[in-house]
Amino acid sequence: METSSNLSNAGCQVTVVPEEACQAVIGRKQAFEAVEAVFASMASGSARNFPVVREAIGHADALYGFKSGFDRAGMVLGVKSGGYWPGNTRKGLTNHQSTVVLFDPDTGRLSALVGGNYLTAVRTAAASAVSIAHLARKDARVLGMVGAGHQSTFQLRAALEQRNFDQVVGWNRDPENLARLAAVCEEQGIPFEAVSLPDLAARSDVIITITSAFEPLLMSEWVKPGTHIACMGTDTKGKQEVDPMLYARAEIFTDEVAQATSIGESQHAAATGILAPERIIAIGDVINGKHPGRRADQDITLFDGTGVGLQDLAVASMAVKLAGAEGLVERFVL
Ligand code: NAD
Repeated sequence: METSSNLSNAGCQVTVVPEEACQAVIGRKQAFEAVEAVFASMASGSARNFPVVREAIGHADALYGFKSGFDRAGMVLGVKSGGYWPGNTRKGLTNHQSTVVLFDPDTGRLSALVGGNYLTAVRTAAASAVSIAHLARKDARVLGMVGAGHQSTFQLRAALEQRNFDQVVGWNRDPENLARLAAVCEEQGIPFEAVSLPDLAARSDVIITITSAFEPLLMSEWVKPGTHIACMGTDTKGKQEVDPMLYARAEIFTDEVAQATSIGESQHAAATGILAPERIIAIGDVINGKHPGRRADQDITLFDGTGVGLQDLAVASMAVKLAGAEGLVERFVL
């Protein structure tokens, strides 16, 4: 066997953070802080997402891919691998399956394996929550939820913490699934009502869309001035949740500008010329104080939450530290 004279290939120590440990240490507050900070780092240029790979594998209707990046400020390098298996619910599993792999940015050596399923939900909810915190009217009272799948309750809980909402209205293609949103509202002591989409738009001050739709559900003419919309479902080419004409009326914000026009909700308005890409503002610029965000109560603000790898890496590296400190991790040498 060939060996190099004095270079070590000694095993590296790898930390394993199981799903349960992630749930124990990363709450909504930690996720919000991690996601807000990394959006700010992305906008200031100290953190960068690498091109996303996302492919239909031609089996089980699954979409599989990689989201990776490097955060120089936090010294976090890694990749989230996984995707979306729509048939998993029938097997008692969540449709999203993912694992975060972290590497030492100084050497490239593997440093951690982190369960990514819970973290994906909590970091996605944190993104829309960050957008509500920075862009919604301060006096927003009615929250509209479009979609009632696995992510929806995470979205709802995180959103409710951002403003003094006193009513939640919801719509889902399969109305029976709205029961899970109603249950969260009951627990929080907030009235919930199942409504039609036009009614939802007419009544909501903040709307979250979190579906797997491939056609517009929310039409521009239904949306009232002053609304903040967080489009969270569209994370792949072809998916669509809102009428592109909304883009003619709204100020557009996103996590990652390049991703918004390629795989985010903005892909459709950009393709039809309704949206000039230079109109899209990175929410990190608002967080950093470089852009004022909402300018007037009557403005419509739209946040295109495409979901970036750095969000996953931010919450995963936080989980490694916090779960490690509490002895909830396992370690092995590779
Ligand atoms: P899920 O499979 O549990 O639920 C899917 C939801 O979409 C349900 O409410 C369903 O009724 C609705 N739906 C599906 N097809 C529809 C259609 N044609 N018209 C209207 N509604 C339709 O999925 P989930 O885990 O709740 O995730 C929801 C979506 O969010 C997925 O598409 C997922 O890829 C996306 N997502 C985005 C991010 C991000 O960072 N932006 C992160 C995670 C998930």
